[in-house]
Amino acid sequence: MKQTFCYSFRFCCDPYANQERELDALKVFARQAQVDDVAVFCNVEELNTGHMREQEQVVFLQLLDAVKSAVAEQGISVSVNHWHSLMHADLGKQLPPDQPFRPMVDVDGREAALCVCPLCSAWQDYFCRMYAAYAAKKPHILWIEDDFRLHNHAPLRWGGCFCEAHMAEYSRRAGKKLTRDAFLKGVLAAGEPHPYRKIWLDVNRETMCALAKKVSDAVHAVSPETKIGLMSSVPYVHSAEGRDWHGLLNAFAGPNLPVSRIHLPCYSEIAPRDYLLRFNMISMANRALIPENTEVYPELENYPYSLFSKSRAFTRFQMLSAMPLNLRGMTIDLFDLNGSGIVLEDGYQDMLRELKPFLNRLTDEQVFCAEQQGVCVMLCETSSYTVHTDGSGRMESLYPQEVYYAGVLSAMGISYRFCTDPSVKGQLCAVSGQYFRNLSEAQIRALIAENRLILSGDAVDTLVEMGLGSLIGVKCVRWMQLNGGEYTYEEVSTDDRFGGLPHARASAVISSADVLKIEYSGAVQQLTAFYNSFRRQTSIGHVIVDRNLFVDPFGHFPEPSEVPPMQLNTVRRDLFQYAVSALQPEVTMICGAAWLAPYVLRQKETLQIYLVNGSLDAAPQILIKTAFVPKCVKICDSRNQRRLAAFAYTDGMLQIRESLAPLDACLITLEP
Ligand SMILES: [Zn+2]
Repeated sequence: MKQTFCYSFRFCCDPYANQERELDALKVFARQAQVDDVAVFCNVEELNTGHMREQEQVVFLQLLDAVKSAVAEQGISVSVNHWHSLMHADLGKQLPPDQPFRPMVDVDGREAALCVCPLCSAWQDYFCRMYAAYAAKKPHILWIEDDFRLHNHAPLRWGGCFCEAHMAEYSRRAGKKLTRDAFLKGVLAAGEPHPYRKIWLDVNRETMCALAKKVSDAVHAVSPETKIGLMSSVPYVHSAEGRDWHGLLNAFAGPNLPVSRIHLPCYSEIAPRDYLLRFNMISMANRALIPENTEVYPELENYPYSLFSKSRAFTRFQMLSAMPLNLRGMTIDLFDLNGSGIVLEDGYQDMLRELKPFLNRLTDEQVFCAEQQGVCVMLCETSSYTVHTDGSGRMESLYPQEVYYAGVLSAMGISYRFCTDPSVKGQLCAVSGQYFRNLSEAQIRALIAENRLILSGDAVDTLVEMGLGSLIGVKCVRWMQLNGGEYTYEEVSTDDRFGGLPHARASAVISSADVLKIEYSGAVQQLTAFYNSFRRQTSIGHVIVDRNLFVDPFGHFPEPSEVPPMQLNTVRRDLFQYAVSALQPEVTMICGAAWLAPYVLRQKETLQIYLVNGSLDAAPQILIKTAFVPKCVKICDSRNQRRLAAFAYTDGMLQIRESLAPLDACLITLEP
């Protein structure tokens, strides 16, 4: 039953307790859910005995054989989900005497009891032997768990590694003997990055890629056709450990295509709008950083499991909303990792079966292989090399803040795509954080000259700090603090009606952000101004400069994957849509809605819009501002029904008389 869109079900049973019963349950679940691949958990979570010994592995190798024969008649492939590499966390266990691996050491010098240092050659050799043994079973995909990282190894603080071997390597590159404290002080120093920063990132980058190559060589010597898949975490956190996405995925791939399990940013159910925001800021960013030809199977998981953790409706929403990642399939992890078994009563299998035809169709028609259109959100993999920290001494201060506009724009219905190419031309580019520090002055001049821009307060501040404020007509700047009394709201300065109101106001207190007070050298088109509680104007607000730059003066956002709640409302949506239309009229956007996110793809003759509704309200109609004049509009809904849609097109506004239910998605095709 190999279908175009691959459901890879992560299967957990306890081979010491219930293997036979669960193999029967697997056959039923796989048939009902239309599973294409079974990834068998080995030595997982609650049943994890530490770094599994080779004699323990025998049981799991036999389990792989048993699963293979159980699902063979359904044409299902078998993959391996060995649950640990460096080890997720100690969880009260420790390395036994017969496993003399070097433990990972954290920023405080604390030694892990079970998590290991990736440079430990004894562990590397052991791990390669384990993976070669799996490879002999010829699995479809041999997964590397997401503990293949330097951060998040509880109880370590942040992560590592600062063991003696690592300190020796850092010292060698620095040309002098370094203590952990001295090294970290350099890595995290404020201002222009200290040379130790590059050493930290280079060592990690090289270590992890070399390790990936070693594992790949061991696996592919045994089974050249076995694909190695990498499970990963949040990209801005990986950035602080110098992750080389192409290097790593290509090293693991060896002779095959790279395979990635991108993180979908929620295990337990949250408000769908918050999920959609994070999805655009985390998962979509991750997709932009990995090789285009990567087979992507993202992480659908309802930890800590059952309908108490995630409803079928939300799970379905995650599947639908993940499609713009341009997927090969989905990893599906729905049941406890204690080996208890498949719970058919939860009914996920019916939802999965019913949704499959639509996912197959989107995949068959290669909808998301086309280049996405919209505002370019500028992103750089290596920003942790250039970012200026806040001097707090925290590893978190290395996290780049460049994904802000992916969240904001998609929430507001404005199409966007990530862009990792600073030499892009003829686009509207949205820049936040300290992105500009990755570019030379010549590159910045070219980016500004060849494109139109949306800049956050942080982006403007960065340019000013780099001595380049004059390139955008900025004379001087000063930060005004949120809740500092200088401003509490923003008011529209023009006669435009935003949110349907004349001189509409948008709040900017408590749940908002700092504002950069900017003095411009020339005339600007002032769209808003900031006021304090006494209705006195204290600063110019959002402006358009020279018809090619929109300044959104908010900044100093707390978390790289969060948008302060007050930044999103009807007035600001209309303000942004007005500015984007003024700067780049061809950008497609959804009007009059909240959390109706468009992904726009230009096919040969047609324009396709994949629309995801992250609101709990139905969209009663679909209003699209688009320069594409359609003769015919087709809709394919998530029940895989395709039909002609009734529509009207006037003055660049396309009104489609179709509704879209909450948590649903559809594909709209505009034909000339
Ligand atoms: Zn180490």
